[in-house]
Amino acid sequence: MLKTRKPQAPGSRIFLPAAVIFFWRFIGILISSPYNSPLCVLTLCAMRSKLVVGNWKMHGSLAVNAELLQAVRDGAGGLRTEVVVCVPYPYLAQAWTLLEGGAVSWGAQDVSEHDQGAWTGEVSGAMLAEFGCRYVIVGHSERRSFFGDTDGVVAAKFLAARRAGLIPILCVGETLAEREAGMTGEVVSRQLDVVVQASGIEAFAAAVVAYEPVWAIGTGRTATPDQAQEVHALIRGRLCAENAVIGNGLRVLYGGSVKPANAAEIFARPDIDGGLIGGASLAAADFLAICAAT
Ligand code: PEP
Repeated sequence: MLKTRKPQAPGSRIFLPAAVIFFWRFIGILISSPYNSPLCVLTLCAMRSKLVVGNWKMHGSLAVNAELLQAVRDGAGGLRTEVVVCVPYPYLAQAWTLLEGGAVSWGAQDVSEHDQGAWTGEVSGAMLAEFGCRYVIVGHSERRSFFGDTDGVVAAKFLAARRAGLIPILCVGETLAEREAGMTGEVVSRQLDVVVQASGIEAFAAAVVAYEPVWAIGTGRTATPDQAQEVHALIRGRLCAENAVIGNGLRVLYGGSVKPANAAEIFARPDIDGGLIGGASLAAADFLAICAAT
């Protein structure tokens, strides 16, 4: 028996093709529009979810971590913000055991630029991925200033993280002397550009940038929300000039003496998508209060 076609409502023949054309036009506008196109900016800004990352640095012990991880896991359950803790290498297995299945992700504070081989003391991206890491910090100012991580090394580490499927959190920021010399924009742009040139802008689709003025890290001195927003806008503008979709979709975190008392004001700025938190991430109540302030 021949199948008969259902009679179509007038206009339905053109509705589907029109809808498809409209959809592709919309995507085309998003992709090709300049970064300051209102449609592009609004859509991508709305898509940027908040992120708060704790950087434990070289702190902790099995006993102390167990309490801290459990408290962060319990407290983060009801938050809309994405929460991550970057723990010292030996505690990755503990973080994995205590955080798996919850809302909190974990990561590392550094990664080797090499994938494997005779590099005593180094830890590769693949090893971090094997321990369930999702994120890794690269180019933290303490690595740059105390361990000789140059812009080139930081770019190589960023690439190594991406090769391993990890999301690099690229730290950039100026020293006090550089700020006072009016060089903040120049320094931050250089630190960013070296990585963009090495990796290509596409690699930033799965990356995070953290603006951390060196003079504000662990000093109790915080950049004002205006100072931070100015640099965040510069970072975003620079990446948008390469690719508007990636630049507007990128999460840019602020780091430097963020505390429960100043977090909300900083996170309220339009180009600040959360924070990288050092000292205050070691106390669960403070860290969770900062996460809740996004
Ligand atoms: C950091 O180490 O990345 C940091 C921001 O530290 P603190 O919050 O202690 O200034």
